[in-house]
Amino acid sequence: MLYNWTAPIFKTFVQARHAGRLPQALCIAGDEALGSYELALECARFYLCQKPLEQGVCGECADCRCFGEDLNPDLLLLLGCSAADCEKGADFSHSPSDLRPAELGERSYPVRIDSVRKMGHWLSEAPQVGHSKVVIISQAHAMQEGAANALLKTFEEPPAYALIILVTRSFEALLPTLLSRAFKLQIPPCSLENALSYLKVNRQDELALHKAALALALAGGAPLRAKEYLLSGTCDLVENLVNKFAEACATQQYEQVCYALAKLTEAEQLLVLRELVLELLKYKAGVEIAALPMLTEVRGQALGRMKAEALFEVQELLTEYQRSYTLTQRAPLATLYTLVERFYRGYPVGNR
Ligand SMILES: [Zn+2]
Repeated sequence: MLYNWTAPIFKTFVQARHAGRLPQALCIAGDEALGSYELALECARFYLCQKPLEQGVCGECADCRCFGEDLNPDLLLLLGCSAADCEKGADFSHSPSDLRPAELGERSYPVRIDSVRKMGHWLSEAPQVGHSKVVIISQAHAMQEGAANALLKTFEEPPAYALIILVTRSFEALLPTLLSRAFKLQIPPCSLENALSYLKVNRQDELALHKAALALALAGGAPLRAKEYLLSGTCDLVENLVNKFAEACATQQYEQVCYALAKLTEAEQLLVLRELVLELLKYKAGVEIAALPMLTEVRGQALGRMKAEALFEVQELLTEYQRSYTLTQRAPLATLYTLVERFYRGYPVGNR
């Protein structure tokens, strides 16, 4: 599937293929929530198509039909998984629909060295359906040194019919020796106009526009994640949470804030707190409240008295918590209470 903002990038790939300028490796960099996985699948489909048209696939050849049936033996998805799942064969798939980015905060595994070696063997066998074979390597940024070095061997002498696609969050996360052999596609940030059109927001509907702005802020501007936040009700929980934060300025009822925070996942908690602190710092620096989706007039007035030094401290604390969430199992409410209490330490006592 292509989106408004990935379609021009796909076109670059198509043109390179037609012009014979395509090496046997492709590297796609960008946030998963900007559609990097969907773009990788479109590129794979086009590469495998036996009668490619000027703009894209023919839709009729045996390879195209295989895609329609969600099973193409000449397409291999190399997925990250645990050692146990790897032994069960969960690292290999020929079904395009298995290529899904990890959910936010979900534990994800890098592609393993054994999988890369198996892939090399698979690639050495001739295509079954048509004339080409494609491998898509997911989460390439997370690959460890051993796996990356094993991949380099395949990169050095790939069979003439093969295309290897690496999907990564950034080019910098890959070995330069891998990158130098690949055709590179970077997904740029999505414009607000494209994002709102994807989220089907009517610009006249102020409430919908505000919700979309909040979802996009939480999603770092990535429309696919913003849509998830809107559908899952995360945005409503966040609205409620920020109200509680503003109310607690006067009441000092930190428990209410903690309970509202506890309704979010750990990853969401960090995300929301980071964004809130960032917006408050922007507010203090004079940014218009209309450009800060978490703050309204009321919340801005209440929370805006927070001292900037305290906000910077909370930012540092959040970085620490991010580490501890993955390292230790702490009692969530106690952790949250400490964090919230620290947040209000920056509130001027006289104005309470
Ligand atoms: Zn075709």
